[in-house]
Amino acid sequence: MSSAVLPHHPDPCGWNALLPPRTPNAPASGKITAKYAVVGAGYTGLAAARRLAELDPTADIVVLEGTTVGEGASGRNSGFASPRDLPASAAPADLQKAIALNRSGEEGFDWLLAIMAEHNITCDLELTGRIKGAATDAGAQIVRSLRDAVAQLELPHEFLDTDQMQQRIGTRYYKCGLYTHEGYLLQPAALIRGLADSLPSNVRLHENSPVLSLRKQGKWHLKTPTAHIDADYVVIAANAAIKEFGFLRSRLVTIYTYAAITQALPPHEIAQLGSMANWGLLAAHRLGTTVRRVGPDRLMVRSLYAYERGLSSEHVNDALLSCFHRRYPALWHIGLDYIWGGTTALTMNGAPWWGHLGDGLYASAGCNGAGIVKGTVLGKRLAELIAGICKPDDIHATYGTANWVAPEPFRTIGFNVISAIERRKAGREA
Ligand SMILES: Cc1cc2nc3c(=O)[nH]c(=O)nc-3n(C[C@H](O)[C@H](O)[C@H](O)COP(=O)(O)OP(=O)(O)OC[C@H]3O[C@@H](n4cnc5c(N)ncnc54)[C@H](O)[C@@H]3O)c2cc1C
Repeated sequence: MSSAVLPHHPDPCGWNALLPPRTPNAPASGKITAKYAVVGAGYTGLAAARRLAELDPTADIVVLEGTTVGEGASGRNSGFASPRDLPASAAPADLQKAIALNRSGEEGFDWLLAIMAEHNITCDLELTGRIKGAATDAGAQIVRSLRDAVAQLELPHEFLDTDQMQQRIGTRYYKCGLYTHEGYLLQPAALIRGLADSLPSNVRLHENSPVLSLRKQGKWHLKTPTAHIDADYVVIAANAAIKEFGFLRSRLVTIYTYAAITQALPPHEIAQLGSMANWGLLAAHRLGTTVRRVGPDRLMVRSLYAYERGLSSEHVNDALLSCFHRRYPALWHIGLDYIWGGTTALTMNGAPWWGHLGDGLYASAGCNGAGIVKGTVLGKRLAELIAGICKPDDIHATYGTANWVAPEPFRTIGFNVISAIERRKAGREA
């Protein structure tokens, strides 16, 4: 097994750039022996390392991160986090599924809150609620079905027409929206930095330490450009990059998606962002554009998808600027300060792959677009699986497991056909 390829992102992450500079931990060097080695310092890897340290406080744990903390997808995302998600519908099967998933989500979110409180991690976490916005007739239909489901469940919500959307978020782009009270926004790079910089003392985190190869000969041997690590147990928390080690190639696809943060609006124009001081909008269609406020005077837009390979910077810049200006034409003179791409692992049925991969080898990957909470709880549970206190059936009953994806060339053909159809359906939601 060998890995030479890390997800490559030419542009630095805007969330990271908004924070003061941080000095990365030194790369791994020389010969290192540890009981546990964790590959990847995203939400999944850091949760696994922290929980292993709690359960086995005298063990040496080494975390190897290929880039620097905050420059992986865990710092590059849109910062939507929630302990609970809305059910897909009010049908009994969907309700049961949501109850089980929400129990797990609450476990992950509460654990994150406890860590933040213990270590004074500030990441602009705020309970903002969430808007599901529809820019097309088909999207409006989805939003109305969702309203019926939340009404049946007696969850607090507000259905917003175009005028009310404009009043709240400053744009007439949307035909309607559903505001629900669940849902937090946060600064993802600040959170992942805080988690990395508050690891227990028996965890050593090395940055700029990509694992190039992994092989089992008695112990597990991991190689980075400057170190050899021997470990009894290995957790691969590299998300889609696990495929570079030869694992889960028939379960995961790598998706690139892109985000940008606007220039700060001058004080006299801030009112154009609506009356809500902080808000986040998810599109009715799954290929639609996410929009949120960032601090008092900026917006973030996240849009575009590419499969297995990134898009050109020129295309991304034009497309993101257009997403922003179509929604806020009066802000045509405001540009984008930060533009970046990130990868995530998608599975066909939306379920993650989680569990035991081989002798002393464990992995969790494929949180799709919701890894802040899901990655945290699944990383924590992976450590508990290693310690023998988590039953895999419980996780699989809650989340299911990633199903099989067709091999190449059928996979690429299938993906291109499905995404062309979905892009067409998404229309103005994108
Ligand atoms: C633009 C964008 C917006 C998103 N929005 C949201 C959102 O609003 N809310 C949400 O919950 N989720 C969102 N997601 C998804 C979320 O970011 C992921 O689900 C989450 O980051 C997964 O966490 P992870 O720890 O499993 O993987 P990652 O965050 O990908 O972490 C894996 C780490 O492994 C490292 N790595 C890879 N290969 C190696 C190697 N060989 N050696 C060492 N290290 C390696 C990588 O550098 C990376 O830091 C978004 C994703 C993107 C890209």
